[in-house]
Amino acid sequence: MKKAFDTEILSVGTELLLGRVTNTDARDISEMLSKIGINVKYHTVVGDNPERLRACVEIAKQRADIIVTTGGLGPTCDDLTKQVLAESFGLRLVKNEDEDRGLFEYIRTGRGLTPNVHQQALLPEGCTVFHNLWGTAPGCAFEAEGKFVVMLPGPPKECVPMFAACAVPWLKKLSDEVIVSHSVCVFGIGESAVDDLFADEMNRMTNPTMAPYAKECDCLLQITAKAESEEKAEAMIAPVMAHVKERLGDYVYGTDLSCVEEAVMALLKEKNLSFAAAESCTGGDIARRFTELPGASAFFKGGVVSYVNEVKESMLGVDAAVLAEKTAVSREVAAAMAEGVRARLKTDMAVSVTGLAGPDGDGVHEVGTVFIGLAVEGQTFVRETHMGRNRTRSFIRRMAGNHAFDMMRRWMSGLPVEDR
Ligand code: ATP
Repeated sequence: MKKAFDTEILSVGTELLLGRVTNTDARDISEMLSKIGINVKYHTVVGDNPERLRACVEIAKQRADIIVTTGGLGPTCDDLTKQVLAESFGLRLVKNEDEDRGLFEYIRTGRGLTPNVHQQALLPEGCTVFHNLWGTAPGCAFEAEGKFVVMLPGPPKECVPMFAACAVPWLKKLSDEVIVSHSVCVFGIGESAVDDLFADEMNRMTNPTMAPYAKECDCLLQITAKAESEEKAEAMIAPVMAHVKERLGDYVYGTDLSCVEEAVMALLKEKNLSFAAAESCTGGDIARRFTELPGASAFFKGGVVSYVNEVKESMLGVDAAVLAEKTAVSREVAAAMAEGVRARLKTDMAVSVTGLAGPDGDGVHEVGTVFIGLAVEGQTFVRETHMGRNRTRSFIRRMAGNHAFDMMRRWMSGLPVEDR
């Protein structure tokens, strides 16, 4: 087996340091490198300054086998990456005739480029040129002083496809391992509880590895294996996944999903059911989240944002006496909202949310008290949650939506609905 190659991604651009642009290039490149079994050990960001860039390159040479740079390949005077890297490795910049002709064509056809674009055709001698099908500045790769260097343009729409199409095949020759990762998605149990459950195993395991990740309102357990082939890595992951799923039981809402509503969508499809939503403190967020999924219209009929009591009464038929006696933040009102919207929109299921997202309370309930209802044929369930008064408004609203989706998931899977 070949050695593991440690990689440093060196992103060049003052705009990244100023916080104007997020370093999505480094994230996307890291993700692609992990898939081909190459370890990323460092992300560095440096401004458009030749001395500091030179210093960063020297550090990267000390601690990495592969250096991937992003940005600074364009024709403007702050685009220094090629010059600094070439100089650092003792290489001359030479004009690449093919690229130069291509750039000339670009100018001739009047695409708004100025003659200084020709600088972009100057590339380190002996490098592999990555022709830029997505923009103008070519990327390149070379091997020197026992290091592998890849240089990519900064704009993500050029950097990411160039990395995938040109740099990945070039780098793949260096590694004969792939990394495969799957995540078990969990709702209703926190990251630290998951961590506790598997702490011993996680400490012992080296390949595959297991790590919990907290998301805003749910969490996942990621299982990652490294092997010579994808099939081998999958075979190493399979028993671990089965074991994890068994231990976490019905807290698991899926595998490799990005949110609980995706699990709900799959179940609605499988069971051919429809639903509606009556939302108070989530203000339409359940409807928004679900309709972000393609194909939502086959299952989601619509919703009512019933923020004030009059609308709960007029649009959902919630009894004024119940509202007066129990207040809007109550089990009874959550149940009536779900039943009301289900009857009016004629759906198989309906969810409802009523609660206090804060920061101000109502003098009766603590901020973070939310009732979530689920009405189905002949039965209504209500879940009462107390998320804590220190939670942000956006957390409480998102978490309330997760509970509503979780209740639907549980009912469709034949699991207890009100517990978590
Ligand atoms: P060109 O000059 O041909 O556009 P370049 O390689 O010189 O390419 P830069 O000038 O460094 O690229 O960056 C151009 C733009 O690309 C930046 O203003 C920024 O919007 C975006 N960009 C640069 N680096 C990154 C990065 N690491 N992640 C996300 N976006 C980036």
